[in-house]
Amino acid sequence: MGDHGGVDTVLLLEARARVLADLDARGLATAPSVSALEEAVSERGWWVDQWPEGVTYVAGLIAQDVQDALFETTGRWPLCRSCPEPAPQHSLFISPDLGGPDPVWICEESGDVVAPLGCL
Ligand SMILES: [Zn+2]
Repeated sequence: MGDHGGVDTVLLLEARARVLADLDARGLATAPSVSALEEAVSERGWWVDQWPEGVTYVAGLIAQDVQDALFETTGRWPLCRSCPEPAPQHSLFISPDLGGPDPVWICEESGDVVAPLGCL
């Protein structure tokens, strides 16, 4: 991660910590996932440098980036654990879709809020 100035660096580190916590909550804090996370944090850090107002959206966007990266390599993350057992396996998604403010995980089946980002 480059030098993004004080506030942005803190927010990026906070975003990284929240996504890492949710990876860990699903047993996915593995080397490939963490490297996908590092890549997303680095790319979004560059993006926030270009567009400082984007910092509001950065945590949710990093989560979406990691979700996309894992979908191609590892599979769905995070899986829903809130719905009753017979439901077919399904994922959570970030709302608002823009990535913020205050991103939460929503069940794609029920539409219910499952947890704030970082609190799975
Ligand atoms: Zn569900």
